[in-house]
Amino acid sequence: MRLEIYRSKRRTLSVGIAPDGEGYVVRAPAGLSEEYIKDFIENKKDALAKMRERIIHRQTFFAPYENFEKLSFLGIDYQIVKQNGLKKAVLHENTVYVDGKNAQKQLKNFLRLAAAEILPKLTDECCKKHSLGFRSLAVRSYKGKWGSCSKDIDIVLNYKLAMLEPPLIEYVIIHELCHAFHMDHSKLFWLKLSKYLPEARKLNKKLKIYTPFCRLF
Ligand SMILES: [Zn+2]
Repeated sequence: MRLEIYRSKRRTLSVGIAPDGEGYVVRAPAGLSEEYIKDFIENKKDALAKMRERIIHRQTFFAPYENFEKLSFLGIDYQIVKQNGLKKAVLHENTVYVDGKNAQKQLKNFLRLAAAEILPKLTDECCKKHSLGFRSLAVRSYKGKWGSCSKDIDIVLNYKLAMLEPPLIEYVIIHELCHAFHMDHSKLFWLKLSKYLPEARKLNKKLKIYTPFCRLF
């Protein structure tokens, strides 16, 4: 394993795993000896190995999506087959056919169109079911979050939500709707959210796993 040491005025030592899983990333106080750092790593060996396993699993999991070999649509995996001359992405059985030269663009349009249809419908359903409301709803693109809500309850949902399984989409919608009561993520907010969705914390944890999907398009 590589050892990348970044020294600064900080007082504490922290060790993590490099994004490629092949090195330790160390943030250390300026004067700390390399020997001390190595001992520290040795003592935390098991926890660091677990951390590395998680990173490598994540990379293996996301690679087929990042290489546009697979598309997740509503939580179901579709094999991507590239064919030249296709005007738009076509979904058939467990395959999505796209033009070889425009794969990414066509998949993006496919998700955008699907999201424009699905998200307002699901939002209305959630509102009816839980007697919640909003002022406006827009579907846009975000790279690092699934949705947002203004203090006037103008909700924006990320079109890439169309990649996720419906329970996760509903979680995001109800999460945003609950910002009508609390604009933060305080205990009170979670209490309110859990009233509508008892599994909210669990769903939030699961949702975080899929954040790399936001960066695909
Ligand atoms: Zn929030």
